[in-house]
Amino acid sequence: MTAKTIDGKAAAAELRKRVAKQVSELRANYDVQPGLAAILVGDDPASQVYIRNKERQTEEVGMASVGRRLPAETSEGALLSIIEELNHDPTVHGILVQLPLPKQIKSEAVISAISAEKDVDGFHPMNVAALSNGKDGLVPCTPMGCTMLLKDQIGDLTGMEALVIGRSNIVGKPMAQLLLAENCTVTIAHSRTRDLDQKCRNADIVVAAVGIPKLVKGDWIKPGATLIDVGINRVSKNDGSTTYRLVGDIDYEEAVQAAGAITPVPGGVGPMTIACLLQNTVAACKRQTILRD
Ligand code: NAD
Repeated sequence: MTAKTIDGKAAAAELRKRVAKQVSELRANYDVQPGLAAILVGDDPASQVYIRNKERQTEEVGMASVGRRLPAETSEGALLSIIEELNHDPTVHGILVQLPLPKQIKSEAVISAISAEKDVDGFHPMNVAALSNGKDGLVPCTPMGCTMLLKDQIGDLTGMEALVIGRSNIVGKPMAQLLLAENCTVTIAHSRTRDLDQKCRNADIVVAAVGIPKLVKGDWIKPGATLIDVGINRVSKNDGSTTYRLVGDIDYEEAVQAAGAITPVPGGVGPMTIACLLQNTVAACKRQTILRD
């Protein structure tokens, strides 16, 4: 059996279309244009590329993009003042601060300073609590995208055995909460977990968010399982060149022989993350404008 490849690029393009439609309805019916502010501190090349992609896609769906580029030596106080200003700006409905931040700035302080209703990354303690209590809030983009791909693929997830590998605050933990909300029986594995291979063999759904190339082997996969690979790892091409290729946390070539469906790296989860950020911004805009009582 060869697994179906889950096309994250196509799913993300569909989601962006739905976001663009909501944006044009907001503009036509309520004269409101959703606005997203993206703040980058420092000049990390990967973060610059990522922020540029976010800004481009924000504009492509018809939203306003407010970019703030700050020097690497920016103090925590200066960043917090900018966030406070954006919190009060009625044209800005979503605020994101690109992580990681330079070491003089505590990311917890920054995340908590963003107004919870504009926290489109879903990292604010109030949004974390809402997710854990099963209440409405803004959900972190990567796990939200993974859940959409799983539901597109499987439909109802009720009763399925789901294994989340990784327990980070931005992927693993919220992923586990979302799967629980979909009535899965969830196991969370991490760096101290014993017998990961056996836990994997029992899982109908595996979400791998670790950062170790090809950690999950083909013979760990339950036949027909659905595999979501969040990992993005740069590995040498081993062809004598100095160029790299991207691989996930799951050994794709092996796993594809056993699984029912699998996301590729690249082209799987990655494209969904920014599309979900745009969806969160539209949702945040609606709550701050037309749905406010
Ligand atoms: P992280 O470093 O914060 O967390 C990694 C987790 O893996 C930890 O909880 C750790 O306990 C666990 N772990 C480490 N070694 C393990 C092992 N041997 N067995 C089982 N668990 C182990 O990383 P993160 O921010 O959650 O990101 C994980 C991966 O996902 C990275 O490759 C990152 O680049 C990628 N990522 C992709 C997207 C996307 O949009 N596609 C978004 C975020 C992160």
